[in-house]
Amino acid sequence: MIPSVLPTYNRAPLTFVKGEGAWLTEADGRRFLDLGAGIAVNALGHAHPALVAALTEQAHALWHVSNLYNIPQQQALADKLVEHTFADTVFFTNSGTESCELAVKMARKYFYDKGQPERVEIITFDGSFHGRSSAGIAAAGSEKMTKGFGPLLPGFVHLTFGDLDGVTNAITERTAAVMIEPVQGEGGIRPVPDAELKALRQICDKNGLLLILDEVQCGVGRTGKLFAHEWAGITPDIMMVAKGIGGGFPLGAVLATEDAASGMTAGTHGSTYGGNPLGCAVGCAVIDQVATPAFLEGVNRKAGLLLQKLEGLVADHPDVFEEVRGSGLMLGLKCKTSNIDMVNAGYENEVITVPAADNVIRLLPPLTLSEDDIAQALIRLDKAATQVNSQLTSA
Ligand SMILES: *Cc1c(COP(=O)(O)O)cnc(C)c1O
Repeated sequence: MIPSVLPTYNRAPLTFVKGEGAWLTEADGRRFLDLGAGIAVNALGHAHPALVAALTEQAHALWHVSNLYNIPQQQALADKLVEHTFADTVFFTNSGTESCELAVKMARKYFYDKGQPERVEIITFDGSFHGRSSAGIAAAGSEKMTKGFGPLLPGFVHLTFGDLDGVTNAITERTAAVMIEPVQGEGGIRPVPDAELKALRQICDKNGLLLILDEVQCGVGRTGKLFAHEWAGITPDIMMVAKGIGGGFPLGAVLATEDAASGMTAGTHGSTYGGNPLGCAVGCAVIDQVATPAFLEGVNRKAGLLLQKLEGLVADHPDVFEEVRGSGLMLGLKCKTSNIDMVNAGYENEVITVPAADNVIRLLPPLTLSEDDIAQALIRLDKAATQVNSQLTSA
């Protein structure tokens, strides 16, 4: 008999009932160090006082009004994002894949309005992840996500990750945009080198294409800049955001330049919940915390410390790990054995990590994690790796 919850997830037998900072309490009382943060969502950890205050204050005042009316919290969050980024304008969604939907629509409408309606194709890369909507799965294009779901949304050209020559060769009079994650998340924590992002920007400029960055996972301070593309010194035309921006409240956004957004006039797009008062009140509190030099400096300092310790872990367990890679507090340990075994061994040692493609376990801790938390992370990951290693030698 089918479970009452549609069984689309492989769930670990863990039930968390409370969270505080980087720690989660299981129903049985065990305390787990959370290096997954709900897949880069709980950017400020669990129950951050500023977020709890923002949410409860707004909850007492007004939960929801339609976008038929002015929403001051939405205006405030848009103003903050415009102030701190390349963007001139922002549309709010509830999730990453909805941000993908609008990014695709915006790029197509841009060229339609410029008198080039044939420009509908978007170049994407293997290993990418843009969410589970029809546009999202068509954009990523992997068989795993698309098989059985019928005709896909046309208009995506899939290239090998890192194939810059391929991009130039793939551009035709039908090409509208290039869409890429500056650091692939689900694909196994694969950063796009700064030089490649710069080259992509140049290719887009030379050919009059839009550059769409998917910063749903790598954005909002995760890499030690407010947005990951800042490391490469480039700016996109359109950027997809979600996950960390709500700190746990479902919130997403599409940021764009005035030019890229020029086709999106009244009536061309909308969302019932997108940008509602509760979500935006929380989003404002997240940005107020994260978008300060001191906070981002803290992320970089902790990231340096964690990376150094993880390099030691890899050296100590050469049969378990191949390498550590990533950017800021978006790190991946590439495993030599099964990454799932390592994630499970983590559970047994009360540390949470997240599997990704390419046999990687992801470490996406709350950006607020302390140095004590980092020390605990290493103790627990070391125990888990020792356990995996002993399973190897006894097998
Ligand atoms: C998680 C993710 C998405 C999809 O976000 P949802 O909120 O699950 O729809 C899109 N792109 C990237 C890079 C992601 O990591």
